[in-house]
Amino acid sequence: MRVLRLSLPVCVVATVLPLWSADSSGSIPEVARLLTEVIRIDTSNPPGNEAKLAEFLKARFAPLGFEIDIVPTPQPGKAHFIARLRGDGSKKPVLIAGHEDVVGVEREKWSLDPFAGVIKDGYVYGRGAIDFKGGLAVFAQAVLDIARQKRPLARDIIFLAEADEEGGAYGTRFLADNAWDKIDCEFALNEGGWIIKDAAGKVQYVSISTADKSGISLLLTARGTSTHSSMPRPDNAIFTLARALAKLSEYDTKPRLTDSTREFFLTLSQTSTEPMKTHFRNLATSNDPNLVAAADKAISENPLLHAIMRNTIAPVLMNAGFRGNVIPGSAEATINFRTIPGTTQEELIEEIQHVINDPRVDVTPAPTAMSRGPVSPELQTALDARARLMSRVAESPKSGVLYEALVKQAKLTYPGARVTPYLFQAGTDAYAWRSKGVPVYGIYPYPISAQDLERMHGNDERVPIASLESGLKMITNTLLEVAGK
Ligand SMILES: [Zn+2]
Repeated sequence: MRVLRLSLPVCVVATVLPLWSADSSGSIPEVARLLTEVIRIDTSNPPGNEAKLAEFLKARFAPLGFEIDIVPTPQPGKAHFIARLRGDGSKKPVLIAGHEDVVGVEREKWSLDPFAGVIKDGYVYGRGAIDFKGGLAVFAQAVLDIARQKRPLARDIIFLAEADEEGGAYGTRFLADNAWDKIDCEFALNEGGWIIKDAAGKVQYVSISTADKSGISLLLTARGTSTHSSMPRPDNAIFTLARALAKLSEYDTKPRLTDSTREFFLTLSQTSTEPMKTHFRNLATSNDPNLVAAADKAISENPLLHAIMRNTIAPVLMNAGFRGNVIPGSAEATINFRTIPGTTQEELIEEIQHVINDPRVDVTPAPTAMSRGPVSPELQTALDARARLMSRVAESPKSGVLYEALVKQAKLTYPGARVTPYLFQAGTDAYAWRSKGVPVYGIYPYPISAQDLERMHGNDERVPIASLESGLKMITNTLLEVAGK
């Protein structure tokens, strides 16, 4: 385990009483135990069933003096959980938020039960271990620890566990529309940037997200003649679609850096050895297209780095045919693009039409799809509104009390690590605050390796217990610095 040098005279984990009685796993820290319990409440969305997790959290928070609000959604079984720890009101609240729901699993591809909260080899395994039940456990534990210690606070700390982040109609936009007074704050922490470990297990850098990528989906529709499968013609729609997809698979968009991404790559340059050091610097600063292309090629070996420098292209759904002896007249594929702020749907359609270059393939806006099959009108409206809002929000400032406290505590918790702002490679629920001008800073509060990161939304998702512990210290001390008296 990492040795920590803290500036504050408290070692939170050591000073609180364990909630659990000792057993064979008695040495497992409280935050890891909390995570196993949270994983065991299956909140795969759809349907989510987040209300069960909200009730679980209420039982933990209520006895410690929090003011609890459970905000049910119009869809039964779902709820947002809000716990407010009162300060003296001299400063505006700080909010710390994580989502309750997780994406579903391909159960047969897991080597263990994704909803059992298994602890093995120093890791907690389960759906959401990284995204975002691990973070929810760290955030909850930090706030519970501060409450137990009865630390005097200058501002309220609001802990929020959100419904419908991974899908659904009643996420933070619904909450902001219906209960803004309960989640209004000066600034907020949410999921986002990463604490990345190198191959030797040392934290290389801490990235704090100040903006998120947003998503645009396009529908490719290939058209051909619908006929008997015994007499195929050259214009088979499925072949035409396949050729279009093959062209897309060979294509990649050009790098497009934001200020934060540029700073991020310069930070990587400072922490890397050759040849990557030069590649990172060239990507961030060079005007020579050949040097940038070479840098792009080398850096893009890493899927995360590939993603944050560009609009990414991912086919996600296909639809063609209805019976075994009919050649269908059309074939469709939905392509999900994760876009750099400022990218418009129109320019993306133009770019993709140019790449496919086939008049038999239409490229049109796709409904924002979260799953196969029909979507209710309310959900479609909510998803489209979310996508529109997300594409418009401004980046949070790389300054201010919360940002600076997080930078300071990241450096104290992970000595030697660089800290940098970051454009998060996916979307989060932060837009509900950012769209109202409230700064939101994102972090997955645990050091993680690039290999483990690939398990997020994948199989055998896991987080190291030691990482949960160090992340807890960083988050607790950040909150104390921001809200303590
Ligand atoms: Zn998430």
